[in-house]
Amino acid sequence: MPPRRVIGIDAGGTKLLGGVVDEDLVVHHRVHRTWRGADRAETLDIFVEAVDEVRAAAPDVDAVGFGIPALVEWDSGVARWSTHLPLEDVRFRDLMSERLGLPVVVDNDANAALVAEARFGAARDCGHAVLVALGTGIGSGLLIDGRIYRGSRGLGAEIGHMVVDLHGPDCQGACPGRGCLEVLASGSAIGREGMAAAQRDPSSALGRRMAAGREISGAIVTELAHDGDEVAQAVLAEIGRRLGYGLTGVVNVFNPEVIVIGGGAIAAGELLLGPARDVVMERALPPAREFVRIVPTHFGDESGMLGAALMAFDAAIPASAS
Ligand SMILES: [Zn+2]
Repeated sequence: MPPRRVIGIDAGGTKLLGGVVDEDLVVHHRVHRTWRGADRAETLDIFVEAVDEVRAAAPDVDAVGFGIPALVEWDSGVARWSTHLPLEDVRFRDLMSERLGLPVVVDNDANAALVAEARFGAARDCGHAVLVALGTGIGSGLLIDGRIYRGSRGLGAEIGHMVVDLHGPDCQGACPGRGCLEVLASGSAIGREGMAAAQRDPSSALGRRMAAGREISGAIVTELAHDGDEVAQAVLAEIGRRLGYGLTGVVNVFNPEVIVIGGGAIAAGELLLGPARDVVMERALPPAREFVRIVPTHFGDESGMLGAALMAFDAAIPASAS
């Protein structure tokens, strides 16, 4: 019997990564898409096109798993709310299953990433873990007693929308809050702080880049920081400390064994995680702060895709056979 394969799709606030994944978690074909300003119909079309593209290369798939940046009701597969995509009250699972003619499973993108990290990655063998994905926004997932925690309606675990500054700036996207961790410590926040730093210090590498009329994004700040620009490094240290304040609350509430940090911004590595750990060690309650590990994702930016694929395997293969 040939190895079983499924498709895993991980969608963030601005981009999508998908692939055909086999039971050994080997990815055979990858697909990338971006969306900016797409309406609901266009957004759903992009999901279908991405699946069709990888399916053309590998038609023998059993199911499709989606991780999407939305609050998803797990039982019904309905996307109830999204800060970054027009997916409010979309019957995502049923709609995709009808259009693709395959079994479909859908969950929040960070939950999907946590599934991969908990089974085979940085949170392996942990019963209590938290995943925080720093990208356009901040996604998060909670593993409690070995199970993904979804709240009463599947709408919970949004650590990115914990308020950490009562008088802080309005939050991103469609969030009605202000001073949320997301607006202060996401990958987008790195870009915004990088622009502010470039204006304050025009002689820095960041400032010179801005003066040349080039974009200042979180990725650029990270690249310049790795190249040794102290102003860019200070931006990452500040964002890392803000992250640390958010994680302090997470440690105090959940007492996790490990907090796994993922998303595009984890490219900053220790420049971000070091200051975050320092704040947690200083501010979180002892002794929980001494036991928690704060580490990057094992699967890099592919944990969401792999976790969505694992969920698809779970859905496609009856429990008695697994
Ligand atoms: Zn918010």
